[in-house]
Amino acid sequence: MDGGLQDLAYFGIPTFCKFPHTRDPRGADVAVVGVPQDQTVLNRPGARYGPRAIRLASQLYGSEYDADLGFYDIELGRHILEGTRLIDYGDVAILPTLTDLNMQAVTRAISEILDGGALPLTLGGDHSIVFPVVRAFEGERLDVVHFDTHLDFTDDYADLGLKFSHGNPIKRISELENVDRITQVGARGLTTPRSVHEEALRAGSSIITASDAIAKGHEWVLEKVPAAENVYVTVDIDVLDPAVAPGTGTPEPGGLSYRLLADILAGLPDKGRVVGFDIVEVNPLYDTSELTSHVAARLALDFLGAIFAAR
Ligand code: MN
Ligand code: MN
Repeated sequence: MDGGLQDLAYFGIPTFCKFPHTRDPRGADVAVVGVPQDQTVLNRPGARYGPRAIRLASQLYGSEYDADLGFYDIELGRHILEGTRLIDYGDVAILPTLTDLNMQAVTRAISEILDGGALPLTLGGDHSIVFPVVRAFEGERLDVVHFDTHLDFTDDYADLGLKFSHGNPIKRISELENVDRITQVGARGLTTPRSVHEEALRAGSSIITASDAIAKGHEWVLEKVPAAENVYVTVDIDVLDPAVAPGTGTPEPGGLSYRLLADILAGLPDKGRVVGFDIVEVNPLYDTSELTSHVAARLALDFLGAIFAAR
């Protein structure tokens, strides 16, 4: 907005960064879409409130947003997202207990955004939403880069047919015909069974642990990511250290700093065309001072800036 008084963070309707709200993605470069789904978590629900919390936190940045110039980044010394057309598409209507229907609705929304020619930025929601998002890219060859404490590679949690929880989206994605290589960054802690680790390696996944990423730095991590035609990126906010992002369902000590994650993301557009990304598992019910929502909003803008600088 350029109306002066309309720009302050605490007034106006809180779309993501005060981008215009429209259900019509045609003509947009980026469509932000919320998926308020948290019914498949194995612990601590509340991520359904993630999209709304991230939108509220983003008002801070929205107050400095200019539809033509984008945002001025003082560290880069230039504007980001200059001339980029960004919209807030709103949320996918998620209904209690209707997993199949919800997944279809997510795939439909992402397909519509892709058909309109926009890059989908999906705000979760728990990590299960990423399977119906990536499914919408059917027919397009994709590499996937996945940031997470957890591998999310369980086939069937408890062997009871639980195949669409937030514990198995990367396993489900790995089974899609159009998905090629998967790189997983940030694995750590004591909650990934050996069998799941082995399952991911068997599927050809390349795994970079948090301790290696932290010790060796973003350039080393980026060297490990193969060049590809198209790249889809999924960010589970719990890849960050809980000191940076406490508001998430399954926090684990020893995570990445904001700077490290942002620097890795900034290098990904050099690896291939980034065709979409998501930030999931922000859970405002466990957040402190809205810190995690702010981090998610800023991460989205930094990554979008890098993606469109490369185009
Ligand atoms: Mn996850
Ligand atoms: Mn996780």
